[in-house]
Amino acid sequence: MGKKLTSRAEDYSKWYNELVVKSDLAENSGVRGCMVIKPYGYAIWEKMQGQLDKMFKETGHENAYFPLFIPKSYLSKEASHVEGFAKECAVVTHYRLKNAEDGSGIVVDEDAKLEEELIVRPTSETIIWDTYRRWIQSYRDLPLKINQWANVVRWEMRTRLFLRTAEFLWQEGHTAHATKEEALEEAELMMDIYAEFAEKYMGVPVIKGTKSESERFAGAEETYCIEALMQDGKALQAGTSHFLGQNFAKAFDVKFANKEGGQEYVWATSWGVSTRLMGALVMTHSDDNGLVLPPKLAPIQVVIVPIYKGLDQLDAISEKVNPLVKELRDKGVTVKYDTRDTHKPGFKFNEYELKGVPVRLAVGQRDLANGTFEVARRDTLSKEIVNADEVVDKVVSLMDEIQENIFNKALDYRKNHITKVDSYDEFKKIIEEKGGFVSAHWDGTTETEDRIKEETKATIRCIPLHAKKEEGKCIVTGKPSVQRVLFAKAY
Ligand code: AMP
Repeated sequence: MGKKLTSRAEDYSKWYNELVVKSDLAENSGVRGCMVIKPYGYAIWEKMQGQLDKMFKETGHENAYFPLFIPKSYLSKEASHVEGFAKECAVVTHYRLKNAEDGSGIVVDEDAKLEEELIVRPTSETIIWDTYRRWIQSYRDLPLKINQWANVVRWEMRTRLFLRTAEFLWQEGHTAHATKEEALEEAELMMDIYAEFAEKYMGVPVIKGTKSESERFAGAEETYCIEALMQDGKALQAGTSHFLGQNFAKAFDVKFANKEGGQEYVWATSWGVSTRLMGALVMTHSDDNGLVLPPKLAPIQVVIVPIYKGLDQLDAISEKVNPLVKELRDKGVTVKYDTRDTHKPGFKFNEYELKGVPVRLAVGQRDLANGTFEVARRDTLSKEIVNADEVVDKVVSLMDEIQENIFNKALDYRKNHITKVDSYDEFKKIIEEKGGFVSAHWDGTTETEDRIKEETKATIRCIPLHAKKEEGKCIVTGKPSVQRVLFAKAY
């Protein structure tokens, strides 16, 4: 297994990188900022996808697929959109290579220059709204609620496995509506779905809110988001849902005939979550021994490790374990019975601990004689001896208990890391020494926000939704404010 992980206290960032690699989630590739997602990591992502996809379909969305390449002219149709994304676009200029004349290798064939350059999609609003123009004519064609699962490319300069990569996997929903109210409702609904997914499945507590103007999506009129807090006190934007107004409909000339026969521009939303969620999952729950996975997303929920010498002993153990495996599977629990004779039990214990398998059962000669199993929990690292006839019930109830326990632990951490402050000095002190969210009054201007960012590196993570209105004074300028907003240093 190699040497132990760097501890979180020692170097949180190093701990994270080591953990992602050692637990077999992903690794860096030969392309800067692009990662290889390994089978174990991909299995978790597939579980996330499966659940989210179900939630999207239950709320009336359908999947489709749009091209990877976007003509450059499309991207420039919506002014603020192109301004936001231009600085991180990968551009395709040629479609052929050839052998260099001087024999020095392969070079771009200048005769194969594209007439119009293509952008590798950083997000698909433009190509989708170009398509929607053909799909939407009348109010009868609305609402249109499409999602796509895809990869996108944003040429990020400072990358980190899962949290920020140059290519990432995501889903992007793109909906079209007849009214502003309906589009706003959709944008809020998708934020709610993301929040439900994060909390119930990932066990990650999130705060719902809207972004300030400077953090808003390029081309959106309002960005709704869910913000999570990592164990080092830094915030992570875990999902966004945008109300796009009529900006893309106007840019791509998408109009519909309303019931009265008049022509109106369509209202839009878009929303997305990415493989960044994998990073959120790791950073929220894991410890110095490795991953801690929520049972609802763990590729293996229970591992059974036999402790034996020789095939006779293994056969005797398997006689007890095989029916147990079947019973657990019948109850919907994902079980792995690890009979490999190439690795010692101690090695296997470490491996599954590192990989965050929620429950481990071990069974040796003494357990066989006593009719028991040793049941170990990954979240609390506690162990107990359980009678064989009670093991199935125990494991089934542990699935819920562990799911709840890790959520509550993360929630406690967050509760202890939201600090209200009423002065800029206090603000700086908390941001510097304690971290977490700082709840403070702000005058609502970009200038003040920029100044705070420059001086403290903290940004407005969100303006919490449904928070109580509270009159106050901006901690920097003393100007009036109607509600506190949440600041933090963020990933
Ligand atoms: P956006 O389209 O900018 O609203 O982003 C949609 C989702 O993708 C958000 O949940 C972001 O957190 C996530 N995201 C944005 N950039 C990256 C990146 N470079 N790597 C991974 N996820 C990202």
